[in-house]
Amino acid sequence: MRDAFVDLRSDTVTRPTPEMRRAMAEAEVGDDVYGEDPTVRRLEEAAAARIGTEAALFVPTGTMGNQVAIHLHTRPGCDVLLEAESHVYLYELGAMAAWSGAVPRILRGRGGILDPSDVTAAAAPGPYYMARARLLVLENTHNHAGGVVLGVAAKDALIAAARSRDLMVHLDGARIFNAAAADGAQASEAARGFDSVMFCLSKGLGAPAGSLLCGSADLVREARVVRKRMGGGMRQAGILAAAGLIALARNVERLHEDHARARRLAEALAETPGFRIDPGAVRTNIVIAGVGPQGAAERVVSGLRELGVLAGGMGPGRIRFVTHLDIGDAALDRAIRAVREVARGLG
Ligand SMILES: *Cc1c(COP(=O)(O)O)cnc(C)c1O
Repeated sequence: MRDAFVDLRSDTVTRPTPEMRRAMAEAEVGDDVYGEDPTVRRLEEAAAARIGTEAALFVPTGTMGNQVAIHLHTRPGCDVLLEAESHVYLYELGAMAAWSGAVPRILRGRGGILDPSDVTAAAAPGPYYMARARLLVLENTHNHAGGVVLGVAAKDALIAAARSRDLMVHLDGARIFNAAAADGAQASEAARGFDSVMFCLSKGLGAPAGSLLCGSADLVREARVVRKRMGGGMRQAGILAAAGLIALARNVERLHEDHARARRLAEALAETPGFRIDPGAVRTNIVIAGVGPQGAAERVVSGLRELGVLAGGMGPGRIRFVTHLDIGDAALDRAIRAVREVARGLG
């Protein structure tokens, strides 16, 4: 049924490839809570090698990976600095307050990118009775800002600002491989300098589920305890890890294809009356366009759905399209034709 749709709502909608399903069926497994699942161990080693850390921990979701890291880097009552439209702030349901007693302090970025001087100002040392920040969380690519890439130099400047104030630094790198591909860098360069890095297998890499929390061997040892406490100890998780290994081996080097299709869609939107977008700003797989007038976003989303194309509303006047493994050129052409047809109806 759903195959009748071109689904551009998110890169989470991909279904496992036949190769992944075969690997899952044949995966060698054991009880991972006892440390006995060889496929999970292989995935953790492969992830650590890609990210350039000593170790990595397989977690069920990106949210859990972020929250385990935040738990380890904070104490109850301390502040966490993060961008106002970051996933950790907008889409994790106050988890840092619920699990860790940590207090989010939001800083407003420019197109999702924080200014290092805002970090140093927010974490300036004060008297003992002033709120105290312990952790900075960055996001790369920045989802809500439109798949924005935090380049290596800008990242290094933000980490230096955080270090000058003795902050820990965590990266929500759900799409770190998209960021690295767009930046012409290795993921390990995009990850360098952080105390911990989370990335998702379940987004552009096309695995059915799973994320990794990467860091030092000490951090990962502690993270394993917190993961279990949060209910994330999985047993024969090698079934999922097997798909993750295929995702890392096959689907990292192809991400530039998703980026090229996203750019092509953005260019088509820019030429279509009723949509506002700077196609030059689209560097990864997320395309966010403005639509006007008021209420048009909902009409566009439902108009596209009638034509077999699924897009996501992003608040009033914004619409999001995400390219991924299951969107080839023919599907993209169909989406572009649908956009043009819906635009004629808007006029
Ligand atoms: C998807 C995503 C996450 C984690 O989401 P889960 O659904 O919990 O796996 C974290 N950060 C960003 C930026 C994301 O896009």
